[in-house]
Amino acid sequence: MSQEVVTDVVCPFCGSLCDDGEIVVEDGKIIETRNLCTIGTTKFLSSQNGHRITKPMIREKGELKETTFEKAIKKAAEILIKAERPLLYGWASTECDAQRVGIELAEELNAVIDDTASVCHGPSTIAKQEVGLPACTLGQVKNRADVIVYWGSNPAHAHPRHMARYTTFIRGFFREQGKQDRTLIVIDPRNTDTAKLADHFLQLKPGYDYELFDALRAAVKGQPIRGEEVGGVPVSKIQEVADIMKKAGFGVIFFGLGLTMSRGKHRNVENAIKLTIDLNKYAKFVIMAMRGHYNVAGFSLVAGWQTGYPFGIDFQRGYPYYNPGETTSNDILQREEADAVLVIASDPVSHFPASSISYMAKLPVIAIEPHVTPTTEIASVVLPPTIAGVEDEGTAYRMDHVPIRLRKVIDPPPGCLPDRKILEAILEEVRKLKSKA
Ligand code: SF4
Repeated sequence: MSQEVVTDVVCPFCGSLCDDGEIVVEDGKIIETRNLCTIGTTKFLSSQNGHRITKPMIREKGELKETTFEKAIKKAAEILIKAERPLLYGWASTECDAQRVGIELAEELNAVIDDTASVCHGPSTIAKQEVGLPACTLGQVKNRADVIVYWGSNPAHAHPRHMARYTTFIRGFFREQGKQDRTLIVIDPRNTDTAKLADHFLQLKPGYDYELFDALRAAVKGQPIRGEEVGGVPVSKIQEVADIMKKAGFGVIFFGLGLTMSRGKHRNVENAIKLTIDLNKYAKFVIMAMRGHYNVAGFSLVAGWQTGYPFGIDFQRGYPYYNPGETTSNDILQREEADAVLVIASDPVSHFPASSISYMAKLPVIAIEPHVTPTTEIASVVLPPTIAGVEDEGTAYRMDHVPIRLRKVIDPPPGCLPDRKILEAILEEVRKLKSKA
């Protein structure tokens, strides 16, 4: 029996990309994780559970049947090449080289390529394009921040180690007392577990984020606010919190999907950034999106370098074109334009609106996915990859856009290849078929 402890392991689950994991491996199997939260632990242990797909499959007469890698690749390439408007979706939970090959494949197919930001922080990207982003790294937050705001985000559940590693509880170079040196402000319609830890909790009415940003901006500038409350928050509380923010040595606003996916969407984020810009007349203040999937930030960077656009990129014209609301996945599915879908590192059937899924279920779907999911249940072709950060190396970008190298901890099941290798094989087959046409 051989046992080893792999140290400095990066957790490939959420955008926090904690890099202090220790994984105990016995006879090639993960038996224990240390330092990780429950979600991160589950990601490592799920690599060897019974829901793992280890063989390529093609649907025949309504049932998925095991096949060879070569046949599954050929079938996937045939589907994509036959399609007039293929959609390549997902990309958030894989490493940057796979994303790079995916963009090459999209260009070769004149396809639309879109990632999960389309249904999460896409509005944040649009807002950034409008007004810029006063940003920093999580290391700066850890060492300097004395005012921390979580707005429309519940890290206690969604990013369980965020507060302990980077923001609220950790001791920093200039914040030696940890929590005692920091003020935690939470703004959310729900009294979340994060809100319960806050020094100041502003429980606004759902959908009133934009108005509350306006009120805070007015209070920061010393302008009067009419009425007794804004969005359910008393004006006296708004003024108190604005005062705390103005006096910060280093303040940071972290915002989540409560802001990007509620009424106002990118206008909410734009107003949040403008509040941050206003605050910089009085204090050092920055703002950061709480990215969910571990490399969703990576996709927007890789796509940005290669096409000039961060998500929802349409190659149908022979060059990259970007217009969120037109070239984004749900819009394309709901207009019933797509005629084939490749899904990678994502499970849209669990997350998209019913109207998108019912249309998608009529199309040939190729799923590159290590586990049985609702998406693999409707797929015509399933290709099982290795899991980056567990069975394969790669680069991912943390929510503050710091690149981090993922470690390989164990060997993958025999026959499973990295996402990038599967995509390269599809690309090669597509080019071969195109040259014969
Ligand atoms: S907080 Fe996120 S990155 Fe850190 S261990 Fe938990 S799931 Fe993994």
